[in-house]
Amino acid sequence: MVININRRTFLAYTAAIAGAASSPTRSEEANTRTRLILLGTGGGPRPRKANAPSAQVIVANGAAYVIDCGNGVARQLAFAGVPLATLRHVFITHHHSDHNADYGNLIWLAWAAGLKARIDTWGPPPLKKMTQLFFEMNAYDINTRIADEGRVPLVPLVHVHELTHGGMVMQDENVKVTAALVNHPPVVPAFAYRFDTANRSIVISGDTTPSDNLVGLAQGADVLVHEALHVQGIDRLVAGVPNAATLKKSIMSHHTTAEDAGRVAQRAGVKLLVLSHLVPADDPAISDQMWIDAARLHFSGPVIVGKDLLEI
Ligand SMILES: [Zn+2]
Ligand SMILES: [Zn+2]
Repeated sequence: MVININRRTFLAYTAAIAGAASSPTRSEEANTRTRLILLGTGGGPRPRKANAPSAQVIVANGAAYVIDCGNGVARQLAFAGVPLATLRHVFITHHHSDHNADYGNLIWLAWAAGLKARIDTWGPPPLKKMTQLFFEMNAYDINTRIADEGRVPLVPLVHVHELTHGGMVMQDENVKVTAALVNHPPVVPAFAYRFDTANRSIVISGDTTPSDNLVGLAQGADVLVHEALHVQGIDRLVAGVPNAATLKKSIMSHHTTAEDAGRVAQRAGVKLLVLSHLVPADDPAISDQMWIDAARLHFSGPVIVGKDLLEI
């Protein structure tokens, strides 16, 4: 319930600073404005109380575009009040399980929740094979529901597109999507995505070290959701594991510190930086203010620390 209070408080705050409540014009804008909702803001696949793994949804003209499918993404959409039947496009940044564990589940459960429209999915190889094998694995349920509940066949609804290069991904009546290759060894390729709608530009970094390609992709964007790690928390994070030194080296060499996320945001000239994919994801010793202070060392604009179900 803390989450709901946070979200309400935040919405009230944004409405207040935008003057939305007092201006019919602004209010109309708010109704049609492209929505960004953080569904999962913690880094890493370990299930946690504090937050879910990576997922975001952008809602433009009632159509849902989901970016990354960490565990629980379908339920997080339910919590966010975004009907699963409005799902139209799914984008995977890279194939780590904190970003794709529920890729198939999201589509399958959206279908079980009433989805009848075409879905397009986008991401690195082997997305086609993963999709095909997922449907094979779950053919018993899918076929049973088609026969028993009169549902439309699921497999023909899903169109998979494998991406290997940056550049234009897709465009429809709501949004233009562009991708950039980012640096997240040893996972290749890994992508960041930019969404340009009639009234907003939103960039999702995916997992990456500080990336010039991302700086280019995010130029002038309204919102940059950037992954972030907090150096002070890493030692405590790895302290309990037998391979602590190797794990720390791995984390530090594949990701971006909050300080560097601020540098990227400043170089890209974005209007708002949102820190997400937080590592450590649930260390009470790292306060929101500590995250913000780290990013603000190099970024002069506003910084928000990502929370699950926060609408931005
Ligand atoms: Zn990750
Ligand atoms: Zn990753």
